[in-house]
Amino acid sequence: RTAVVLFTRDLRVHDHPALATACAAFDRVVPLYVLDPALAGHSPNRNRFLHQCLAELRDTLRGLGGDLVIRRGDPVAETIRLAREVDAEGIGLSADVSRYARRRERRLRAECDRHRLFLRLFPGVTVVEPGELRPGGGDHYRVFTPYHRVWSGARWREELAAPRRVTLPDGIAVGRLPAAPKGESPDAVVGGESVGRRRLTRWLPTLPRYDDIHDDLAADETSRLSPYLRFGCLSPLTVANRADDRGHPFVRQLCWRDFYHQVTAAFPEIAVKAYRRGATEQWRYDAAALDAWADGRTGMPIVDAGMRQLHAEGWMHNRARLITAGYLTKVLGLDWRPGLAVFSRWLLDGDVPDNSGNWQWVAGTGNDSRPYRGLNPVRQAERYDPDGGYVRRWVPELATVAGKAVHQPWRLPPEVRRTIDYPPPLEVPGADPVWLR
Ligand code: FAD
Repeated sequence: RTAVVLFTRDLRVHDHPALATACAAFDRVVPLYVLDPALAGHSPNRNRFLHQCLAELRDTLRGLGGDLVIRRGDPVAETIRLAREVDAEGIGLSADVSRYARRRERRLRAECDRHRLFLRLFPGVTVVEPGELRPGGGDHYRVFTPYHRVWSGARWREELAAPRRVTLPDGIAVGRLPAAPKGESPDAVVGGESVGRRRLTRWLPTLPRYDDIHDDLAADETSRLSPYLRFGCLSPLTVANRADDRGHPFVRQLCWRDFYHQVTAAFPEIAVKAYRRGATEQWRYDAAALDAWADGRTGMPIVDAGMRQLHAEGWMHNRARLITAGYLTKVLGLDWRPGLAVFSRWLLDGDVPDNSGNWQWVAGTGNDSRPYRGLNPVRQAERYDPDGGYVRRWVPELATVAGKAVHQPWRLPPEVRRTIDYPPPLEVPGADPVWLR
């Protein structure tokens, strides 16, 4: 008896419910990844990371006696073709929530029905499956705090060990894995399950400091596990369990991730349409300002620092994401969608639920119960980068400006300003930003 396990963004062998179940129930298991041309072009950074993950997953599966079969093309057609080739009874995969993933699942189900194959969806992309927790009278939680309360007290599934052995059918063509393509960010981290697991183990001693330090931009002490969670190199359940305290502020952040996944499952338009009923959207159109923001040359140092970290690392500190996104939408008054697209191009952890959910939160069209709040970028900078170390790290033009003066270069004496090659802050027509006075 044979089953196919279709990998998508669950690129690991530990705590992989679809793989573990297939290996326990079938004589032969065919792990499959289909390189989907429809997804390949969005982000060179993520594309490179993905290939690194696949190369490692293939090595790991080979070590277990199996392999990773690689196909290229439409994932539905290729999966069905392979299932028929190996005379499989059915297909298992991890359930996912984006509109694209849901459509893929629906098409796969229809094709499985047509070819008398079974299709089984498994958990594993989140700690708690989207839709498992529902408020009275609703299909999903619209507000984080009550969701968090129920999530923390819910029964979580058992974590699963990696399979001991993966047995492939004979004579199967495994396919070639192309060399990793080039990314755009020179300092991007390397993908893969073992790198992710090592990072988790090395970071865990920081956990007791997390609450005090996670907003400190210069300290940069958050876990940086997000790309590994994005591609499923790490199981979110494993990460939550290793923290060993469901009430911990770090585990609460993992709950935000689950929260946005259950929002996306219920509102698949999240990347394109305002989530909040009655949200007013009146954005300015200003291509030059959008470009300046995307390139990290707005003249607002904390914003430019964040955007330049994004370019260099394919990752940005959460506080900087809040400040840069708030600056685009609430200071420049520009639409969140192009901002989301810029993040999506660069971020190694860029995904539909978290990227869209957070952008909508900041723009006031999402799940925030105080949608009209705005962040004063200078006040944010002085609070979360009090000595200016984060700005000096990422904006070398300002490296000679000591202390928090670096946050307002327009206030430097003219003779100093003349020596610095850094633009004045962007002007916003009709606005009188208090911090420029
Ligand atoms: P840690 O502080 O160590 O947190 C641990 C984990 O919790 C993270 O790896 C992440 O999986 C999860 N998490 C933390 N904060 C959030 C949050 N606000 N929402 C959802 N999950 C969270 N995160 C993404 O994973 N992908 C995105 O595309 C993404 N886009 C964002 C866009 C904007 C405008 C903003 C404000 C935030 C975005 N985030 C996104 C959330 C957050 O910034 C990152 O998850 C976090 O910075 C990753 O760093 P870390 O792993 O060191 O986080």
